[in-house]
Amino acid sequence: MQPFRYLRARDEEAALESGRAAGAMFIAGGTGLVDLLKLGVERPTTLVDVSALPDAAIEETPAGIRIGALARNSDVAYHPLVQRHLPVLSQALLSGASAQLRNMATVGGNLLQRTRCSYFRDVAWRCNKRQPGSGCSALDGENRMHAVLGVAGGAADQCIAVHPSDMCVALVALDAIVHTRGAPGERAIPIADLHLAPRAHPEIETVLAPGELITSVTVPVTPLAARSHYVKVRDRASYAFALASAAVAIELRGRVVRAARVALGGVATKPWRSPEAERALVGRPATRASFEHAAAAALAAAQPRAQNRYKVDLAQRVIVRALAAATTGKAT
Ligand code: SF4
Repeated sequence: MQPFRYLRARDEEAALESGRAAGAMFIAGGTGLVDLLKLGVERPTTLVDVSALPDAAIEETPAGIRIGALARNSDVAYHPLVQRHLPVLSQALLSGASAQLRNMATVGGNLLQRTRCSYFRDVAWRCNKRQPGSGCSALDGENRMHAVLGVAGGAADQCIAVHPSDMCVALVALDAIVHTRGAPGERAIPIADLHLAPRAHPEIETVLAPGELITSVTVPVTPLAARSHYVKVRDRASYAFALASAAVAIELRGRVVRAARVALGGVATKPWRSPEAERALVGRPATRASFEHAAAAALAAAQPRAQNRYKVDLAQRVIVRALAAATTGKAT
């Protein structure tokens, strides 16, 4: 592990001041970052510990439910406001990691989780995300876990790693807003705009500027959010990342879909919203045939590699299950 300075921030101002140092990183729960420090993947000059900042509240505001960036994943998942108004968020959080990790991991850290691509985490391999321009070992290597959406296709791909977060997929379906402070001032960033598809620069994963600190997330309370559901398929029943997941939210007028949100995890290079699926649903009856039509639309642009073709079919099944559960209120 590369030596680094450790600073414990007393307040937001001190955190922002320390975060301006070249090569500085923020740390809170440390459930992702400490592993990457030990592996030599992350090599900060300074670690700014923000875990003592008073930013963990979960409260109702006129704009929706405000969740402090330091709220622990388990506290969010079990909070009565979240369980009542944002069921998909609670379900997504409880499907991720283990109970011990959820007790440590924060919302801010979850938003900035880095990929689980095994080549990224092993410095012996070529990886454009870890070392820009070095190549991508997954393109012709083990790519069973990798992305089919948000990739360019063929030799144009610089990186096909999937985004690992369950929480982010739910927040995309809920139109959440991420609040930050830093050099650009105070910003309110729609979650769908926070993460970037890899394109030519897979090492740049979000629109955040260096030293920009996530302070909170606001999630609107809407009829859509009330009828929402998360389905995740993985290799084992717990403590595993998604092979494919879907967060959906649906508003009905009678049996007809009035509005819909469909977001996917485990299959794309960023938490993936599917406007194609949403358009296919709106104005149509909430039936299995409509759900299958929407699922096909969501995956129509998929670009699978040698080992992950199965994800195209799997993701469609996951979408159909999530929509059925959101509509009927019964998980299948
Ligand atoms: Fe690195 Fe991305 Fe290729 Fe994985 S898929 S080896 S993270 S460039």
